[in-house]
Amino acid sequence: MRLPETDVHIFPIHIQWAYSGEIVTASAEEEAEDAETVIRAGRLTELYLMGDSLGDTLLRNAVTDRLRTLWIAAVRGPSAEATRLVYNGGAEGCKLQRLCLDWYLCSRNADTADWLGQHQAKLPKAFLADLAAEFMRANYDSDNVTDWEEASSRTYHDHDADVPPCD
Ligand SMILES: [Zn+2]
Repeated sequence: MRLPETDVHIFPIHIQWAYSGEIVTASAEEEAEDAETVIRAGRLTELYLMGDSLGDTLLRNAVTDRLRTLWIAAVRGPSAEATRLVYNGGAEGCKLQRLCLDWYLCSRNADTADWLGQHQAKLPKAFLADLAAEFMRANYDSDNVTDWEEASSRTYHDHDADVPPCD
């Protein structure tokens, strides 16, 4: 079995998920210090990739739910590192790639443009290519850009024989 590049923090998070169905991305001390959103989001991204390797659809779905909640609360989106992880390690067209793209599409503004300019060397070419095509489409068809904050959870879920549609 091939595991994605994973830091040592991810295994205990996965074990807790496997036993309790809960995702806890920060220890009690980190929680008290309000651990950096970027660190938590990075761990969640790695957990998603682990769910992918293990065929754990429920875990992938739980992670996209958590990332949306985290990004909404923190008023931010995917970091360059999270984007790199999900593009290099995720299945092509997976729901987390979709969520990342939708975040950028909903953030078509000067700040995002500056940010992309500063971080492009760190961002995967496949992501930049997808984003260029999607920006082009959004330019003439902005009504069909998915609002990642408001979309139903199933938008970023996978459903299969073990995980029936949730709504
Ligand atoms: Zn669902």
